Amino acid sequence: MSRIVAYTYEADVHCVNCTNNRFGQHIRFPRDSNGIPLDSTDREGNAIHPVFSTDEVTTTHFTYCGSCLQPLEH
Ligand SMILES: [Zn+2]
Repeated sequence: MSRIVAYTYEADVHCVNCTNNRFGQHIRFPRDSNGIPLDSTDREGNAIHPVFSTDEVTTTHFTYCGSCLQPLEH
């Protein structure tokens, strides 16, 4: 089963926690399983994208959160 392990926005990848801190308090619906409003956009106006644990690119290119610099769980 695939889980969302991170999100991409502002030209970097960010862990669920940081994404929640950044977007979670926006009063928008619907939200995904992590409570992230699905129509969130970053400050460049681009939609944020969930990264799934099953994505091939995830394990090879996304290793650290761009906000808190912690290793991403896969
Ligand atoms: Zn983080």
